[in-house]
Amino acid sequence: MVLLGAPGVGKGTQAKLLHDRLGLPPISTGEILRAAAQSGSPLGQEASDFMERGDLVPDDVIIRVVEERLRDPDCRKGFLLDGFPRTLPQAEALDAMLGRQKQALDAAISLAVPRDEVLSRLAGRRTCKDCGAMYNLTLSPPRAEGVCDRCGDELYQRNDDGEETIRARLEVYERETAPLHDYYRRRSLLREVDGSGTTGEVHSRVLGALGVPE
Ligand code: ADP
Ligand code: ZN
Repeated sequence: MVLLGAPGVGKGTQAKLLHDRLGLPPISTGEILRAAAQSGSPLGQEASDFMERGDLVPDDVIIRVVEERLRDPDCRKGFLLDGFPRTLPQAEALDAMLGRQKQALDAAISLAVPRDEVLSRLAGRRTCKDCGAMYNLTLSPPRAEGVCDRCGDELYQRNDDGEETIRARLEVYERETAPLHDYYRRRSLLREVDGSGTTGEVHSRVLGALGVPE
């Protein structure tokens, strides 16, 4: 499956909940790139300038990353892609790789949230340095300020979650990624889900759209 939707609609959160329910590995290209940037690997060095500006990493770079990841044995029974594809060439490359692996997409779940809500979700987003748990200062704050409820490590704000960069990412989304809705609609794979409300409410809607019992 692929998860579509603007930055801040909750793709990562829903991918984790779907993982708990279905056991499929969630694959976040953003997380892969952030880990690479932190480790200073060649991929990270190549990607970090683009990411900090809110631009997309070049297609050939991210396509190679995903192709490698999908060959891992844990993807044989399926996977949840969060943040890929983000352009038409990426969607076409994904179809080609799945064809080679004799796999096919079951669904493209599109999450939609009103623009105002997206902006406040992104501005308040904090992530745990250690376990990756996500919080929101207004919607789902941690019990103690700056500290992860789950593991006690420190929370940080992604360096592409500043106001300017958020605006750039939303523009890139409208231009490059929004057209993918048509691509998947034409293939009868698109499942549009209202992403507003609590994470639990959205999760129920996603399962409903997939025809999976809760
Ligand atoms: P969000 O969905 O909140 O914008 P992500 O964590 O998915 O955040 O992605 C963060 C950044 O990583 C993007 O702004 C982009 O620079 C880069 N990135 C992630 N996935 C892709 C992709 N499929 N193609 C190009 N760049 C990507
Ligand atoms: Zn943590």
